[in-house]
Amino acid sequence: MIKIIVNGCKGRMGRAICDCAKTNDKLEVIGEVDIGDDIQPLIREADVVIDFSHHEATADIAGRCSDNNTALVIGTTGHNEDEAAAIRSFAESVPMVWTSNFSTGVNTLFWLTRKAAAVLDDEFDIEIVEMHHRLKKDAPSGTALSLARIASEARTLDLDNAARHGRKGMTGERTREEIGVHSIRGGDVVGDHTVIFAANGERIELTHKASSRNTFANGALRAAEWVANRKPGIYTMLDVLDLR
Ligand code: NAD
Repeated sequence: MIKIIVNGCKGRMGRAICDCAKTNDKLEVIGEVDIGDDIQPLIREADVVIDFSHHEATADIAGRCSDNNTALVIGTTGHNEDEAAAIRSFAESVPMVWTSNFSTGVNTLFWLTRKAAAVLDDEFDIEIVEMHHRLKKDAPSGTALSLARIASEARTLDLDNAARHGRKGMTGERTREEIGVHSIRGGDVVGDHTVIFAANGERIELTHKASSRNTFANGALRAAEWVANRKPGIYTMLDVLDLR
């Protein structure tokens, strides 16, 4: 039985993970932790920590996993460069699955986006649109950024220069070196992502719509099971699903 701790247990995702774990006979939740709780007494007993909390919390959790030989599943998004570098610094001692989206469908969308961006030349403009519920705190979504990164790699563009986060005013004509990223917020939308490839005379749109958080929760639990006995390093859901 793999023993897990859920960090951010009172949140939307944390609750979904704890619920889904009840029907998984390979995993046992031995700790439910949220802001203000002390994870330290529990972490020694755990095989894996699953973190769906806040971007400021993840590096500290990664450090504690390093001290206690515990694997880590990171679902939290919105880390800044410093936070991401601090998390990466523990990859030599912690096996971690770090991914912006744990759904099988979205990871298939990642794969399809890479293929489509490679097949379609730069006659096809790439724009990414995401929609989430009104309570989401970061924008664009981590998944939209992953899609933008995949598209920029396929086009050999530097994403920092290529990304256009929304447009307003006299922006000038669209260049071929741009990747548009647009965030919509409203209602209770769990997570929609569309990658548009638009050329003269034709357009392809690849869309994924999540309608239940259990999709992400079960993916995170599958990742926990997979990572428990891996060597240290940073893995993604593409490794878990063998989609490399
Ligand atoms: P939420 O706001 O509902 O829940 C976050 C929880 O974390 C809250 O209970 C909050 O009290 C807790 N928290 C905040 N700071 C903390 C700290 N320092 N230590 C411990 N707990 C802390 O948010 P959510 O919708 O559950 O999403 C959580 C995160 O997961 C977000 O970053 C979101 O973007 C991400 N997310 C990722 C995926 C994925 O598949 N990777 C899917 C959905 C959401």
